[in-house]
Amino acid sequence: MTTDDIVARWGLRPVINASGTMTVIGASSARPEVIEAVSAILPRFVEIDALQQVASRTIARLCGAEAGFVTASTAAGITLAVAGAMTGLDRAAIARLPDASGLKYEVAVMAGHLISYGAPVEQAVRLAGAEVVSVGQATSVAEYELEAALSERTAAALYVISHHAVQYGMLSLRRFSEIAHAHGVPVIVDAAAEYGLKCFIEEGADIALYSAHKFLRAPTAGIVAGRRDLVRAAYLQNGGIGRGMKVGKEGIAGTIVALEAWETTDHVAQRAAEAQLLALWQAALAGRPGVTASIVADPTGNPVDRLGVSIDPALAKTTAWNLTSRLAAGTPSIAVRAEALEHGYFELDPCNLDAAEAKIVGEQLVAALEASLGGGAPMTSYAEWFSTRESEIWDIQ
Ligand SMILES: *Cc1c(COP(=O)(O)O)cnc(C)c1O
Repeated sequence: MTTDDIVARWGLRPVINASGTMTVIGASSARPEVIEAVSAILPRFVEIDALQQVASRTIARLCGAEAGFVTASTAAGITLAVAGAMTGLDRAAIARLPDASGLKYEVAVMAGHLISYGAPVEQAVRLAGAEVVSVGQATSVAEYELEAALSERTAAALYVISHHAVQYGMLSLRRFSEIAHAHGVPVIVDAAAEYGLKCFIEEGADIALYSAHKFLRAPTAGIVAGRRDLVRAAYLQNGGIGRGMKVGKEGIAGTIVALEAWETTDHVAQRAAEAQLLALWQAALAGRPGVTASIVADPTGNPVDRLGVSIDPALAKTTAWNLTSRLAAGTPSIAVRAEALEHGYFELDPCNLDAAEAKIVGEQLVAALEASLGGGAPMTSYAEWFSTRESEIWDIQ
């Protein structure tokens, strides 16, 4: 690492990302062609509407949509798409939001889809002035329950595809869309972290939303794709509640180039390279006391496998939460996929690091496990660990 490295210059700890596309550590490493496009456009002036027209054509082609545009994030896309479904092209209504008087204002969401992606999806809906109508139970939704939730007040139905969502007992996107359409209700799909681009509109989505900064490896931005009238209505919100969700020219240009690059990426070769990293980690962990490691498929069917690691504290002399905190506190800091630590479980994700970084992850993990066996590492309860962590996030001085 050179001294003019921007991370070192500001005294930041370098992070190796074995967690996937997590926005709290910068989501993804931008593709070289994206970086080139971003630096090429940053010093220039362009008409943003015209640049968004280029984005619209690219999004239409890649996502199988009629039109599209780029916004600040997927979270912004949810708010804008809901707002567009409420107001249509009515400029006065757009200016009045989030006051929803006189508009359809309900958004039907299956209970198992009411997730947090770092903030509640429900809040992104409410920001538009809408209200969420929760459908069914967290683990089971019947078609009649969706039918009953749709009325003359319904502006849209929202479908969330995510590893955070409940993966069983929900209606398929196809059936969800058929039922919503039979009631004249448009379907918005949050596919922020999904690899597939065309499948959501094919399965009935009227609007599909994607993060540009996750698998596409663009700057922080969100993609809104879908039916022309709904896309236009959502885009018009940029002169209303969307003003605080503005995307810059660099976000739009980076997204266009990232979409084009996605089309020509050799996804098979990429997966093979990722399989090698998983094998490296699995070999490093094999036979270690209290450690079980196995390859797990992506819960929503994305073509990415991960290494699932379970820690038995009695044998490993450490816990999953203490171990992953130790990795995060090192230099470089190592981030793992840590959403089920209370179950003594975490995952290593191979999609955001190279072979040299993967080697460091394996070495640091082994070193931390060996230190724990040697009795050097403190073990805390999960509750104790969690309360300390809670006080550390979103704190700024
Ligand atoms: C990451 C994520 C979001 C938020 O995406 P941003 O583009 O970072 O706003 C929303 N929904 C799901 C399912 C996500 O995974």
